[in-house]
Amino acid sequence: MKLLLAWSLVLALVSPVAAVPPTMIHWRRTGPPVAVTVYDRTADALWGTALHRAVAEWNAGIEGVELSFSPGPADCEKGQGPYTVVVCIRENTAPDRVGETTVYSSDGEHISQATIWMDPRSDPNRNHLACHELGHALGLGHRGANENSCMTNGPYKRPEHPDRRDFDTVTLRHAHVH
Ligand SMILES: [Zn+2]
Ligand SMILES: [Zn+2]
Repeated sequence: MKLLLAWSLVLALVSPVAAVPPTMIHWRRTGPPVAVTVYDRTADALWGTALHRAVAEWNAGIEGVELSFSPGPADCEKGQGPYTVVVCIRENTAPDRVGETTVYSSDGEHISQATIWMDPRSDPNRNHLACHELGHALGLGHRGANENSCMTNGPYKRPEHPDRRDFDTVTLRHAHVH
């Protein structure tokens, strides 16, 4: 299993950063909507609430993949195996990072599992970060800095919801079975 992608969210910059081109990566679906479990290992009730909310919101808008929320237990260092996303807290992932999602894939096309690290500095923006990093775990890249989507990487706005384009992109990528 190789490390495929790592996204970060910039905490504060003078000017917006460029959007990262989205990739086509997605979870492997073999029939019914693929079930992906999101393990909350933050040990923080407010993070749990934000993650629970974000899972429900993504689920309400996408088809072909379905997230479920679990309080754990799960392994922050090794991840939790196929079809899982583990969310943990770690300080100082980088000077300008408040959230980081690592997506693993063995074929470069299909996500096998993911790990999300939240920095304590992201606490004021839990709803935004939960939506944003779960979007990465669903295979999405960044949106433009001024777009009204939680996948924006701009430093000025912190939208807390996906938009229709985010939902449609995830659904389109999970419309086929293998
Ligand atoms: Zn990001
Ligand atoms: Zn596929």
